[in-house]
Amino acid sequence: MLLEVREARIRYAKAEVVKGISLHVDEREIVALIGPNGAGKTTTLRAISGLKTLASGSINFDGRRIDGSPAHEIVKLGVGHVPEGRVMIAGMSVSDNLRMGAYLRKDRGGISEDMQRMYEHFPILKSRRKQLASSLSGGEQQMLAVARTLMSRPKLILMDEPSMGLAPIMVEEVARMIQEIGASGISVLLVEQNANMALGLANRAYVLEVGEICACGNAASLAEDETVKRCYLGG
Ligand code: ATP
Repeated sequence: MLLEVREARIRYAKAEVVKGISLHVDEREIVALIGPNGAGKTTTLRAISGLKTLASGSINFDGRRIDGSPAHEIVKLGVGHVPEGRVMIAGMSVSDNLRMGAYLRKDRGGISEDMQRMYEHFPILKSRRKQLASSLSGGEQQMLAVARTLMSRPKLILMDEPSMGLAPIMVEEVARMIQEIGASGISVLLVEQNANMALGLANRAYVLEVGEICACGNAASLAEDETVKRCYLGG
């Protein structure tokens, strides 16, 4: 098991927004976490990457307990996080944003090689490498946000709503990119409100509703589940 979240409870002040959830991600797995607005998906990802502390429970990654560790240590262990809204440094160029993704690495040669690999993989970023990140389209910014996270050489990548606000054609492109990341051996924990897209991509999925996991299992079976269909797939 690469990632294991056990009985995690998370609070904002007195409000408990994640109420004792357990989930796991195996090596080479794409796992989706779906559910409505406000269910606690973003909060869960923030806890995994060390940006929010647990009230109780534990998080293990790659054989080590990581809850309570600072976020930069968790990045170093191999957890990459692509936050909601493709937060990036708008006033910096595409190439500087990519370089920022490797800020905890010391291997200059490896960083240059990885920059080249990103440009091969995302040609659009290569052609725009000198432009400001703010000049990219929404889909291109999502590519950059993911490529920047890949620059930290993660074993697991957490993605928060990568399809948000994108045109359908770009959603397809982002889905293809996630599939390729999975095929390259990196595990993915994908948070999505677009349940159709997420269940189409993932091996397994969890459905989160007001802080609790109400269904989980094989993604293809969940996509056929009557309740999931009715509540999340518009069927
Ligand atoms: P969304 O898709 O809207 O981001 P989500 O499933 O990711 O939904 P969270 O963002 O994790 O949900 O929010 C879970 C709950 O925690 C919500 O009720 C939200 O209002 C609350 N919440 C989130 N961030 C904070 C905060 N900084 N302070 C207080 N409450 C918060």
